[in-house]
Amino acid sequence: MTDSTATAPIDAHETDTPTFRHFIAGEWMDSVGGGTFESRNPADRRDVIGRFQQGTAADVAMATKAAETALPMWRRTPAPKRGEILYAFGALMAEHKERLARAMTREMGKVIAEARGDVQEGIDIAFLMAGEGRRMHGDTVPSELPDKWAMSIRQPIGIAGIITPWNFPMAIPCWKIMPALVTGNTVVFKPASDTPHCATLLIELMAEAGVPPGAVNLVTGTGGEVGNAIVGSPDIGVISFTGSSATGKSIAATAGQRLKRLSLEMGGKNGVVVLADADLDLATDGILWSAFGTTGQRCTAASRVIVERPVVEPLLQRLETRARALRLGDGLSDTTDVGPLINSGAVDKVAGYVDIGRGEGELVTGGARASDGDLEHGNFFEPTIFAGVGPMDRIGQEEIFGPVLSVIPVDDYGAAMLALNQTRYGLSSSIFTRDVNTAFRAMRDFETGIVYVNAGTTGAEVHLPFGGWKETGNGHREAGNIALDTYTEWKSIYVDFSGRLQRAQIDNQPG
Ligand code: NDP
Repeated sequence: MTDSTATAPIDAHETDTPTFRHFIAGEWMDSVGGGTFESRNPADRRDVIGRFQQGTAADVAMATKAAETALPMWRRTPAPKRGEILYAFGALMAEHKERLARAMTREMGKVIAEARGDVQEGIDIAFLMAGEGRRMHGDTVPSELPDKWAMSIRQPIGIAGIITPWNFPMAIPCWKIMPALVTGNTVVFKPASDTPHCATLLIELMAEAGVPPGAVNLVTGTGGEVGNAIVGSPDIGVISFTGSSATGKSIAATAGQRLKRLSLEMGGKNGVVVLADADLDLATDGILWSAFGTTGQRCTAASRVIVERPVVEPLLQRLETRARALRLGDGLSDTTDVGPLINSGAVDKVAGYVDIGRGEGELVTGGARASDGDLEHGNFFEPTIFAGVGPMDRIGQEEIFGPVLSVIPVDDYGAAMLALNQTRYGLSSSIFTRDVNTAFRAMRDFETGIVYVNAGTTGAEVHLPFGGWKETGNGHREAGNIALDTYTEWKSIYVDFSGRLQRAQIDNQPG
């Protein structure tokens, strides 16, 4: 069944649960399989946001066909024109920013100020990539031969398969879809099963902005069915994935069989180093924001604080006092500092790591599920801090993806740097120090894709490359103009206007 109208408005107290559809070839349509699944508010699981299509491999095949059909037209649309459509999309996001942010908080749980930031990141990348429509630089270089022209240009790969997580449910899809579109690719998009409504709202605005039918297609459903079908499709030439390292590795194995272009952004175990000369109040602000913002569910969340021994106690006192004062609740409330975890599985995972942590360090604060009063129906967990953790302890090594912070004491900068780098991940890191020489050493030594000096581990801006070293990534970057590399092939073009045969490397040699 198809329906050219979009979707129902959201209302927190709606009794009739709306049903949302895939978006394929410019039409809203049901899954071939006929199944649906629910999305619920993690702050109050009684609140059902909607029912979404349980996508199948057949739906992915239809979406891929639509993307293939739209490709010749879209890739020949002049890039500045494609950029104008992205600009219109960014402007629509700005116009609807509050509505989008509130819908995000309701579906994903992050507090409303952070949801506005998530939407703003989407707007920023839309505008940045709109500008790429008029830049998209290649090289024009002198030829080694006379009367010969040499240049390189970017061309689209074809169809991009976009697979995203729930923690930045608008920013991350925009980070991927905007560069894919501006470079002339068409898209098949599978959002996380926890945040299909956020994805649907984005696609509605893309259609309204003038992205033509088939250029962007949305298929909701599980990673096992829809995600697998996208990764395995012989017609989809590039996959961009953000999610866990375990899923990323399995995608890489499948994509490798087909030699697909593959961009992976995966797990993190981000560390903050605090040296004895640091401004401890500033460090406390940065650590709390990085550790407990988005309830510890940012890929750049700080989960380790590596501290020179003389300041361990004063820093811990500050962290404990401030963490105890954080108010849990529905992110739409002005009084909430920390929202819920995404689902009950995440609560169980965090509780499991807290049990492990009790055997490895000393519990300073938190450590329990929170279910008093209004929290009863949500996925809440207290902001938790462990002291005296060893760098190789499990809670100091494994990604917990929740509000759990480990404080690791060390003797000096050298030990701090070692501890910071002793992880299989490499996304973000930070150092608090007043010594400019040490700050520069850290900028040189830390093995992460992003380094902050005198700030927490979060706060990336969209015009710089974003991505991680080691098992966080596979060498690609998102954001910045380097994001174009994921979605384009280079073509080098030589034009000989001498009118005679000129042989490179031969006719230009002396003698
Ligand atoms: P998952 O890896 O579980 O899921 C990510 C996406 O992949 C979802 O859309 C999921 O679908 C899909 N998926 C699951 N299995 C498969 C499969 N076999 N084939 C194809 N797709 C599949 O991660 P989470 O959603 O739990 O996200 C949290 C993780 O993301 C953390 O590890 C975090 O560090 C990482 N992350 C990394 C970022 C970075 O930039 N480095 C940024 C943000 C998050 P479904 O939802 O249906 O299961």
